[in-house]
Amino acid sequence: MSLAALVLIFFLGLCAGSFLNVVIHRLPLEISVVRPGSRCPRCQAPIAFYDNIPILSYILLGARCRRCREPISLRYPLVELLTGGLFAGLAYRWDGLWLWIAAVLLAASALIALSFIDLDTFTIPDALSLGLAGLGLLSSAINPYFSGPWSARLLQCLAGALTGFLLTWATAVLGEKIFKKEALGGGDIKLLTGIGALTGWTGAITTLTTACLFGSIYGVVLMSRRRLKRYDPVPFGPFLSLGALINLFYLIPLQLFALF
Ligand SMILES: [Zn+2]
Repeated sequence: MSLAALVLIFFLGLCAGSFLNVVIHRLPLEISVVRPGSRCPRCQAPIAFYDNIPILSYILLGARCRRCREPISLRYPLVELLTGGLFAGLAYRWDGLWLWIAAVLLAASALIALSFIDLDTFTIPDALSLGLAGLGLLSSAINPYFSGPWSARLLQCLAGALTGFLLTWATAVLGEKIFKKEALGGGDIKLLTGIGALTGWTGAITTLTTACLFGSIYGVVLMSRRRLKRYDPVPFGPFLSLGALINLFYLIPLQLFALF
């Protein structure tokens, strides 16, 4: 892939990230993500297009609203950079498979949006988790992780979705029996179902194990710094998304977790 194409996809990712910031803010509130245009959350002043350029406007405005000088969260440019970086990285990884690139860029966008929504609200919108499942189904014919004729590919996709569903559902039931509280929510179950539809049954397993690993490390680190108490809820969506994103670059080998 030429450098020019990669740079173009990176900028496309910055713009997509700018839109994801709107989705993260509005989807949980059930406001249209299209209309009205972006507004300052404090003074409600409409944001002009020249103040809405990814990264650049944040720097030029000195991280403040032009009208009311309200500080703009660092999260906005971070989401834009994250999306730009992932877009360029995934396009480079899957160079030549253009339809599959389109599918993984959509998947990465949904994973970024739902991670931040889960952090904010402890819920994962169905539109994103079930959207991933639909995307997995639609892209199964061109998914490089699946093989064989169309019907076999569809079966591999469904096996992945079913594995994701059963794993998280069983974990949720067991967790509730052992800890007497909700360990995994319905949103996590739908999310891993969607991830399985995209990455197959091994992807579903390694996404969950990776998420548990990073989630535990995160929990232990926060508890040791006394930022988190033993039974505080931790959103699991960002960790599942992290595992899914690794799997969308390269399938994590199952054997890796035989060590544990
Ligand atoms: Zn303002």
